[in-house]
Amino acid sequence: MFCINCGKQINDGEHICKGCGKLSAGIRDELLALSEKTADYKCEKCGGDIRAEQHYCGLCGAQTKAGA
Ligand SMILES: [Zn+2]
Ligand SMILES: [Zn+2]
Repeated sequence: MFCINCGKQINDGEHICKGCGKLSAGIRDELLALSEKTADYKCEKCGGDIRAEQHYCGLCGAQTKAGA
């Protein structure tokens, strides 16, 4: 694939462009999918994403199921 930022070719398996140092589009999608996956449930107060290991909501500070 080619870097969406500078147009240099990025080899398969490379996550960072050698030309400009930006993350390749592929790894960005992976990170995005990962960040979606890490939200285990929603805050009951504000609806923010909460991971199972979080004891407090990062957005509103409400105690989560894990913290209760
Ligand atoms: Zn680049
Ligand atoms: Zn919240």
